[in-house]
Amino acid sequence: MSTPTAKGEDRDIVITRSDRKNASSSGVKGLRTKSIHPPIEMHWDLPTTQKGKKKASLSIKSLLSYPLMKFGRSKSLEMVLEGTHDPNDEQIVEAFREMLSREGLLPPKHNDYHTLLRFLRMNDFDMTISKDMFLNYLKWRKEFRVDMIHKEFKFTEYTEVKKCYPHGYHGVDKCGRPVYIERIGMIDINKLWQITTQERLIKHHVSEQEKTLRVRYPACSLAAKRHIASTTSILDVNGVGMSNFSKPARYIFMEIQKIDSSYYPETLNKLFIINAGSGFKMLWKAVKAFLSERTVAKIQVLGSNYLSVLLEAIDPSNLPTFLGGNCTCSEYGGCLMSDQGPWKNSELLEMIQTTEEMDGACEHNNVVSEGSLMSKTVEMQNKDDLSMSLALEETTRARTSLSCRLALQKIDWLEASLGDIKNKIKTLEDALQDTKMALKELAQHIEQ
Ligand SMILES: [Zn+2]
Repeated sequence: MSTPTAKGEDRDIVITRSDRKNASSSGVKGLRTKSIHPPIEMHWDLPTTQKGKKKASLSIKSLLSYPLMKFGRSKSLEMVLEGTHDPNDEQIVEAFREMLSREGLLPPKHNDYHTLLRFLRMNDFDMTISKDMFLNYLKWRKEFRVDMIHKEFKFTEYTEVKKCYPHGYHGVDKCGRPVYIERIGMIDINKLWQITTQERLIKHHVSEQEKTLRVRYPACSLAAKRHIASTTSILDVNGVGMSNFSKPARYIFMEIQKIDSSYYPETLNKLFIINAGSGFKMLWKAVKAFLSERTVAKIQVLGSNYLSVLLEAIDPSNLPTFLGGNCTCSEYGGCLMSDQGPWKNSELLEMIQTTEEMDGACEHNNVVSEGSLMSKTVEMQNKDDLSMSLALEETTRARTSLSCRLALQKIDWLEASLGDIKNKIKTLEDALQDTKMALKELAQHIEQ
């Protein structure tokens, strides 16, 4: 591990990229050493933000004016939401994707480039370990009914919970990543258990994580005009003592840790622990043992002189006054009540929803093409060019989204077999024409 480089918010966690050739054969060396990768956004930096070149000059307005419906996501919108993929990453993600697909282990819904990359990255690009973790993740999602949480679970006690457990998302860091703040020393644990239960609190945490992936990151990406995929967190431990760490509190802490590290890997950019006193530092030693090396490397423990460090990463306008910034969110009753950030911008939300709907439609197309592939082929054999042009139109429409790769492959295959069929029909038609001519000649011959 090297020391942090002096410049750039992006490069402050450092370190070396793992050698992938060694990663897969690391067993030979005995002890596996975990590499700590650079911030996840560096895997898909926009070309315009590299090398201090002129920044992309797209405003939210101009992004909105792209012909979304005509060709699906516009190229620029696609680039911001999806990022430019690193060719090395792309290759290994593709190999991982193929491995899972071959064994029928990759539901179309979870065939997402960034999710697969996060699991690979977390495991130093070891495909076997990544596969196990990914399958665990799918199993957990099913058992925990993660996809249904936003419909089935309403955290009605949210406001009350926030009063005795101050936490929440608030603004963005200088790179545009969401900032999450938790004032763990201010937890009133007895009151908390009167208002809610451990189980509901964990469900709430999962639903917030889902919201971050589905809404906060895309909204932050659009606002920052670069792909955003991780969170900067501040944990204020002022007042933390053993009393805050009663058994149920420890249980919650460990459960949340387990969920985050197993199912939402590589989403933490940096964690600033502030106001750490000697008591906390002792506690930290114990807690640290439960965290992975790569997580520990992202954590900076600071005493009460934390402000200058925070201001390097976060603009004072995005920092609440209680942390030394300028924001009060008085209209919401405080910064941790506001959930303010690009994810509350209605224009951005509308754009995200549109792209989600298009992806959904595409996924639907994918399922349709899977189910009716045979009947379509038969149908095409009997039909004329109209069906062909309809199929081609469908292909063009499907070509718009990255999540449609599988559908595209199938449609391409269909297209190719249609071409074959068309050729055969043409040959048959020619033969028929020849036969007709021969018959005509024969008839004429008989008449004579
Ligand atoms: Zn605020």
